[in-house]
Amino acid sequence: MGEKSVALFERAREVMVGGVNSPVRAFKAVGGSPLFIAHGEGSKIWDVDGNELIDYVCSWGPLIAGHRPPRVMKAVTAALEKGVTFGAPTEPELRLAEKVCSFVPSIEKVRFVNSGTEATMSALRLARGYTKRDKVLKFEGCYHGHADPFLTQAGSGMATFDSPYSDGVPPAVAADTVTIPYNDLEAVRAAFKAHGKRLAAAIVEPVAGNMGVVLPLPGFLETLSELCATNGALLIFDEVITGFRLSAGGAQQTLGVTPDITCLGKIVGGGFPVGAYGASREIMRSVSPEGGVYQAGTLSGNPVAMTAGLETISLVENKYKALEAAGSRLEEGIDEGAEEAGVPVKVNRAGSMIGLFFVKGTVTNFKEAKKTKQDLYRRFHRAMLRQGVYLPPSPFETFFLSTAHTKEDLAATVAASRKAFMECRSSA
Ligand SMILES: *Cc1c(COP(=O)(O)O)cnc(C)c1O
Repeated sequence: MGEKSVALFERAREVMVGGVNSPVRAFKAVGGSPLFIAHGEGSKIWDVDGNELIDYVCSWGPLIAGHRPPRVMKAVTAALEKGVTFGAPTEPELRLAEKVCSFVPSIEKVRFVNSGTEATMSALRLARGYTKRDKVLKFEGCYHGHADPFLTQAGSGMATFDSPYSDGVPPAVAADTVTIPYNDLEAVRAAFKAHGKRLAAAIVEPVAGNMGVVLPLPGFLETLSELCATNGALLIFDEVITGFRLSAGGAQQTLGVTPDITCLGKIVGGGFPVGAYGASREIMRSVSPEGGVYQAGTLSGNPVAMTAGLETISLVENKYKALEAAGSRLEEGIDEGAEEAGVPVKVNRAGSMIGLFFVKGTVTNFKEAKKTKQDLYRRFHRAMLRQGVYLPPSPFETFFLSTAHTKEDLAATVAASRKAFMECRSSA
């Protein structure tokens, strides 16, 4: 879009793989050159060429209170003044732990780590250590970070590049992962029949956010939970996106299904690199130093990051109704724009998470999500960018709203989407 971004990206490609540090950022799925971001404020970001954009990426979810919320900035600055890291216990980690345990129904004790990937990887190790079993059940299109056992049919990053498996994952590791379609109760029953007594865990995004947004059908999570319980397997909810996003207690509170282990990330760090996993006291007793499941981290529980998480969560804990209203308004606006232009789309939404698919019909699993017309998303994305709206650069990612998005932002976005859908039509 801008000359400066293009020039920086050229330099970046010389010294970083694909010019980026995480694949989807490279804009491969939408074409063009990624924007280099200079700064952000509230619902907006500015690139190095001075373009102002309404941001619906929000750093892929963490920024539920928008960019630089004053309350968070003030607390983080104060924390920085006291020292960046000690590798010893501090009060901010205790306060965030108390908050997490009080809000999330399944968590009595928590362990903080440094990313969502670490949270899911450690949660699986815990499930394996606790059950003394090896196998894990996962669902197509759900992404659980980039640890070996989860890199099978793993949603956005891999769907965008159309490679179902990663090189470098030993077949022996992949062999312990059983992958079945999301929302498919028959497949769930069959998987438990075949592997039930060898499953350490089933891991699932309770609302999927890495194949676009896909909601669980009634009975899906409930049945999964029942079958885990009767087979002695643990149910792991990967709430790295949905935790503190759908409600203060996450999807498990909203949907009324309680997992054995919960993984958190993104919002829990308020924009800093944080993840967490937690469970009942009894299960967590298996983790080192109390138990035999080893897991550690030099920077885990970092006081600056813990402060950011704590303040972010506190800032939004009463804002979920407003987030729902904003999500609903945007969903309706997008739907109307598409209808007017005569472009078939399906908008899936859970609270402040929105998934836009260029399909006719419903999207309830990865196979249906992959039917989205990627070339239309590409055109839509470009047209929105030109009008000052920054959407995720992949058709399989979630649009995230924050409490900083104003009615004016939403109205401008809806107006932009009308034009963008018209362009999709004229070039379809
Ligand atoms: C982002 C994400 C992860 C991985 O978190 P990172 O911090 O990127 O390692 C895991 N699970 C889900 C559901 C995610 O959306």
